[in-house]
Amino acid sequence: MTEKLKDIKKQFPILEQQVNGKTLVYLDNAATTQKPISVINAEEQYYKTINSNVHRGIHTLSQLATVEMEESRKSVQEFLNAKKDYEIIFTKGTTDSINLVANGIENLVNEGDEIIISNLEHHSNIVPWQFLAERKKLRIKVIPVDDNGDLIMDEFDRLLSDKTRIVSINHISNALGVVNPIEEIITKAHKAGAYVLIDGAQAVSHRKIDVQALDVDFYVFSSHKLYGPTGVGILYGKENLLDSMKPYQGGGEMIKEVTFEKTTYADLPFKFEAGTPNIAGNIVLKNAIEFIQAIGYKTISKHEDTILKYAKDKLSQIDDIIIYAQKAKYCSGALSFNLNLDNVHSSDVGFILDKQGIAVRTGHHCAQPIMKRFGIKGTVRASFAVYTMKEDIDKLIEGVYLTQKMLK
Ligand SMILES: *Cc1c(COP(=O)(O)O)cnc(C)c1O
Repeated sequence: MTEKLKDIKKQFPILEQQVNGKTLVYLDNAATTQKPISVINAEEQYYKTINSNVHRGIHTLSQLATVEMEESRKSVQEFLNAKKDYEIIFTKGTTDSINLVANGIENLVNEGDEIIISNLEHHSNIVPWQFLAERKKLRIKVIPVDDNGDLIMDEFDRLLSDKTRIVSINHISNALGVVNPIEEIITKAHKAGAYVLIDGAQAVSHRKIDVQALDVDFYVFSSHKLYGPTGVGILYGKENLLDSMKPYQGGGEMIKEVTFEKTTYADLPFKFEAGTPNIAGNIVLKNAIEFIQAIGYKTISKHEDTILKYAKDKLSQIDDIIIYAQKAKYCSGALSFNLNLDNVHSSDVGFILDKQGIAVRTGHHCAQPIMKRFGIKGTVRASFAVYTMKEDIDKLIEGVYLTQKMLK
């Protein structure tokens, strides 16, 4: 482990807590990450010093809040290497960002067009497209997954056609931790004339994203999985696409002029930001990005890959355990497994682990189709962050042994 990460846990006050009489081992980072003290302090500082509404104020505090929010937008722009800061739209989260696109793009699709998603998607990258498909009479096609949890790319090639309008795929699966070949997907989809949305909710905390290098049309993520506050999300979209899309919600901030006859819309990004945003959260996302940058993605990926490998090795030494996507080409950040015992649910395992202070997620992880693919109702998922250490994994392994004993 690099020197940089030696004391990283100390930046996270919540990790010093005892849960059920045991030091917390937090392995539910794919659901949400904990927040460093810099983010917590920045949120407090905002409310203590400059809290006021953005954009419409002539007074000093309103202007300060506006400047800080726009600076945060710029920091997201640099973070993703977007061309323009107004290609960054503040939303409530990944779900909100995908809904925005699935609504806004309505005027760019026609009856009979096709949307391609995958068997690995989170419900939030399925349901908004089903709504759109229903409204506009489109068809949804699904890239299947092989037994290892990898997308079957030959099938993707077969599904792609000049009818394909949208391809929407997650970068990293939240249920299995599988990393999808998005570069290849984007290139092929563009060749077929389709737009591509990448759901990066599980990717941004683990690896550097460069939207220009990817040439992706939309990239979305949630701040709360990136050491930032909840209720904040990002939609990156290419300028020309965002320009031609219709607004998602109507209200204040998103207009140029309102009359009862006709309303004209504000320019980007405000066209898509109706109403008072999560000002504090949007501002503080910048501090979360600074936290990541101070460590650096190289250090983060190297550490997290080591932890994942360690966890996989240790877990696979346990008898009667099923690890999903164990042979997938490339995984990151999460590990899904089940105990191979009759009548034992993933929630039973999660419950016993919790009593030992170990927080994991159980169930279908908002991804029922991939659970169905493997013929299961759910899994136990341990997911990692930059502060996850080998000691945490050792405690998980100990916990799993104990759980097995208790349930046998
Ligand atoms: C968490 C997650 C979402 C949904 O994010 P919200 O913050 O709940 O809107 C979507 N896709 C993936 C892959 C996720 O992990």
